[in-house]
Amino acid sequence: MIDSVKNPLPSRVEIVVMGGGTAGCSAALHLAQAGRKVVLFEQRLCGGMASGQNYGGVRQQGRLEVELPLSFRSRELWDKMEKIVGNDCGFRRTGHLKLARTPEQIASLEEWAVMARRHGLTVTMVTGNELRTQHPYLSEEACGASFCPTDGSANPRVTAPQWARAAEKAGADVREYCPVRALEREGGGFRVTLADGRSTCCDVLVNTAGAWGAGLAAQLGESYPEGTLHPNMNVSEPMAPVISANFGVCGGDIYFRQTGRGNIIFGGGRGVGDRDRLWSRPLAEVNLRQARAMLRLVPGLAGINLIRSWSGIDGMMPDESPVFGASPTVPGLFHAFGFSGHGFQLGPGAGAVLCDLVIRGETPTDISGLLPKRFL
Ligand SMILES: Cc1cc2nc3c(=O)[nH]c(=O)nc-3n(C[C@H](O)[C@H](O)[C@H](O)COP(=O)(O)OP(=O)(O)OC[C@H]3O[C@@H](n4cnc5c(N)ncnc54)[C@H](O)[C@@H]3O)c2cc1C
Repeated sequence: MIDSVKNPLPSRVEIVVMGGGTAGCSAALHLAQAGRKVVLFEQRLCGGMASGQNYGGVRQQGRLEVELPLSFRSRELWDKMEKIVGNDCGFRRTGHLKLARTPEQIASLEEWAVMARRHGLTVTMVTGNELRTQHPYLSEEACGASFCPTDGSANPRVTAPQWARAAEKAGADVREYCPVRALEREGGGFRVTLADGRSTCCDVLVNTAGAWGAGLAAQLGESYPEGTLHPNMNVSEPMAPVISANFGVCGGDIYFRQTGRGNIIFGGGRGVGDRDRLWSRPLAEVNLRQARAMLRLVPGLAGINLIRSWSGIDGMMPDESPVFGASPTVPGLFHAFGFSGHGFQLGPGAGAVLCDLVIRGETPTDISGLLPKRFL
C-alpha cells in the first residue's frame, strides 16, 4: 500500500477518497465492493491519525440525537467486523456505563435514556447500590449510572488498517504516503494533485480527511469552521482482569476500560497539538488530574504503573457533530469529517452511508442533522 513516485497514477479514475481513517477506508471498501473504481490517498499510513490514536470506545450512549441513526448503522457493522474485514478488530461487547456523581446528573442520564429509547436503543438505569454489587471496585463517588448493553470497545490500532486491507482486496487502489495538495474543478469532475506533483482526474471526490477536511473543502470554495481536539490519554501496565465494562462519567473528566491483555486505558481532559505539523502530545498536569479522578472512582488501582500517555488530532465542529453528506455547492463532492472526538464508533457506518450517497444519491440512514449546509 505504501506508494512511491515511481508508481504512475491513472490519468482518470471514477472516485478519489481523500484520507485513510476509519471513515475513508470504510468508504473505499464499500465503494469497491459495489464495483466502483476507487483510489484512496492517505498522507501517512491508514489509521495513523485519530482513527488509530483514540481510546477505542464503541459507544452509542451519550451521543447527540442527530448522530444516533448513523451510530446505529455503524453499530450493526461492528458486530460483523470479522466477516467484513476478516478480523474482529478487537471489538468486545462489554456494555457502557455512564456514571453520575450527583442527583442532577442522574436526572440528565434519565432524560437522555428516554430520548434514546424513542430511537429504539436499550438503555437501563442502575442505582448506586446495584453499581457496587455488579462492580465492587467502584467507590461511593458514583451514585448511579445509565447502562447501554450493546456498547463496547475495540482496538483502534488495527481497525482502519484492516479496513484498508479489505478495501484493497476488494479492488480499491489504496496509496499511503500520498498527501493530496491541490484540488481543482476540471470538466465535469476534479483534478487531484499530490504533494509530489503527480495528478489524476476523477468524477467523484470523497473528503474523509479528518481534522484536515475543512482545509481541502476550502480549496473548492467551501468554508467550514473546523477546529481541532486533542484528547489526553493514558495506559497502565497490564494487570489481572478487574474492570469488565467501558466506563464514562457525566461531564467527561474521566473514562476508562481494561483491555483484553489487562492494560487500563483512561482518558479525560485535553492535550495539545498542531494540525499543520501533524503533531500532538499529552500534558503532565492533565495526566495527574486524570489519575486522581481515576483513583477516586476505582481506589484499588492505587500503585499501578502508567506505561504511556499520548494524544491525537481530531476535527472539532462548533456543534460537535461531523460535516456529513453531499456538498451543497459542488456536485460530485461528498464530505465526512470533523467527527469531534467521537467518530471511531461512527467510522464503519460513515463509509457505508457515503457509498449510498455516491451510488444512489440517497441513504436510508437519517443524516439530516449532520448535513454540510448547516455551516454554509
Ligand atoms: C485521543 C483520541 C481519543 C478518542 N477516543 C474516541 C473513542 O473512544 N470513541 C470514538 O468513537 N471516537 C474517539 N475519538 C475520535 C475518533 O478517533 C475520530 O473522530 C475518528 O477516528 C475520525 O476518523 P476520520 O476517519 O474522520 O479521521 P482520521 O482518523 O483523522 O483520518 C483522516 C485521515 O486523513 C488523512 N489526511 C488528511 N489530510 C490529507 C491529505 N491532504 N491527503 C491525504 N490524506 C490526508 C490523515 O492523515 C488521516 O489519516 C478519539 C480521538 C482521539 C484523538
